Amino acid sequence: MTKPAYPVDLHAHSLRSDGVLEPAELVALAAERGVTALALSDHDTLAGAAEAIASGERLGVRVIPAVELNTESEFGDAHVLGYFLDPHDDALEARLRWLRENRGRRIELMVENLQRLGYPVSLARVLEIAKGGALGRPHLAQALFEAGHVRSYDEAFDTLIAKDAPAYVERVGLTPLEAVRLIVERGGASSLAHPGTVVGLRELLPRLVDAGLTGMEVYYPEHSAAWTAELRALADAFGLIHTGGSDFHGRGEHGGGLGCAYVPAATVPALESARRRIGAGTAVGRRTTP
Ligand code: AMP
Ligand code: FE
Ligand code: FE
Ligand code: ZN
Repeated sequence: MTKPAYPVDLHAHSLRSDGVLEPAELVALAAERGVTALALSDHDTLAGAAEAIASGERLGVRVIPAVELNTESEFGDAHVLGYFLDPHDDALEARLRWLRENRGRRIELMVENLQRLGYPVSLARVLEIAKGGALGRPHLAQALFEAGHVRSYDEAFDTLIAKDAPAYVERVGLTPLEAVRLIVERGGASSLAHPGTVVGLRELLPRLVDAGLTGMEVYYPEHSAAWTAELRALADAFGLIHTGGSDFHGRGEHGGGLGCAYVPAATVPALESARRRIGAGTAVGRRTTP
């Protein structure tokens, strides 16, 4: 990670979900790399927000409390980012807790499948790897690697636990529309993460916009220049704010280095004002973004 970083990163994970750094360590890395605004967007939890914000105040990094909601539907991997959420919102926390409980059960089922398929891993070890964070397949992939069943973390995904792989178990959780509605209800601004993983993007997008979607992750490490241009045009057609982020986890080939994705300077203020308008009870406007 020697390349210079962009000053805004709106997609990053810590140990509170499937990243490898403590929230404070993530913020310290951001500061070191010159990232001055960072969204901590752990999967289904705001547990790292307070620690990250406190550390950001010391180090001059503005930390935006966020979550990433992975959804289950016919639209493939539709992940919704929610920004400017309140870590003390009990109603939101109740929903997130339900999602995390479902994550736990799903991993238990995958551990059972792996056992049956001849790739035993211990659930206790998976929990140890997660260190109390929202459980996910990355923890399982790590355990599979440690047990010697695969040659690399990424190989575990490809051969055993990816969608359509033999040990995979479907998620019980929100649909993409429910995820956007939850963020809107709780006063946050939303963005559709890495839209390339959605199956049927052009069909899904207008529905999400009707539900109150505010932005789309146009800038992402795995996006080619052509795909980025296509997404920019699509976002403009729907009046969506152009967001971007690294999806830094610190493990495997998934995501990029902290601050590796360009994000327009106007994005954070646009998300903030979109969220205020939603919070004020006014209709979600269709806006054009720089
Ligand atoms: P889960 O939330 O349990 O379904 O796990 C999804 C997470 O696994 C994503 O948030 C990524 O962090 C990671 N991931 C998904 N696909 C891959 C892949 N092909 N290789 C490595 N990591 C992946
Ligand atoms: Fe992840
Ligand atoms: Fe994602
Ligand atoms: Zn992510």
